[in-house]
Amino acid sequence: MEDKHKKIEDAANFLKQIASHPDIIPGIHNYCDRWCERCPLANRCTVFHMENRMRNFETGSEQPESTWDDVSTMLSVAAKLLNEQIEEMGIDVDELDSMAKNVEHKLKNNPKEAKAVKLANEYSSNLAEWIKLNRDKVLEKHLLLDDIKSPQSGSFTDAFEVINYYMILVSSKTYRAFLHSADDDLSDDSRGSAKVALIIIDRSIASWVKVFDIIPELEDNVLQFLALLSKIKKEILRRFPNAMEFVRPGFDEL
Ligand code: SF4
Repeated sequence: MEDKHKKIEDAANFLKQIASHPDIIPGIHNYCDRWCERCPLANRCTVFHMENRMRNFETGSEQPESTWDDVSTMLSVAAKLLNEQIEEMGIDVDELDSMAKNVEHKLKNNPKEAKAVKLANEYSSNLAEWIKLNRDKVLEKHLLLDDIKSPQSGSFTDAFEVINYYMILVSSKTYRAFLHSADDDLSDDSRGSAKVALIIIDRSIASWVKVFDIIPELEDNVLQFLALLSKIKKEILRRFPNAMEFVRPGFDEL
């Protein structure tokens, strides 16, 4: 128990130390695609540094920890920092309760009912199913391109990596964009998520076009996925026509 307490204390101190570094961009992780290995601003992101610290635990440089321990430690750290902030701001807990009720009241729309969210879920689940059924065919094509040292081999791998990585993000970012109603205080946050969803959709579209170029026999499947992605994009833009004007911390500022 004492160990756990010390771990939370250390992680909270580490987080505060990282977050106060002048190179860190506050909130950068809220509007990114979570692809940290490819992120050009990883060194300026608190989440990246925290996750690296957790990985160091896992690789045994400090002490072994299971994924669930990580999650539980991070939740405790978040609760501790939140409590500290509440105290610093002199907010009374009863006041906090009524603030939460207000937010709840404003969240009157159900994102699951939004057409864009339904389409995005359809895209993610259809794609997961398609990958399961076509994994061998795709792998075979990749090996063939590799064997003949085709210049298309790298492009093919990259296209599938992008499609695979964004498979779930298409639906999770679309859902986040539709979480708030257009008139609540967090509608700007929704616009930020809508922009990330649109970027992810555009990159997925570009990757499907590459796949089609390399394996034309997949035309039917590719066209189905492209059609779904275009419909999601259209629905997002219908709700957030100015989404692309949102300035994401770091990515759109530097
Ligand atoms: S900003 Fe970059 S490093 Fe940070 S969570 Fe997002 S992708 Fe990862």
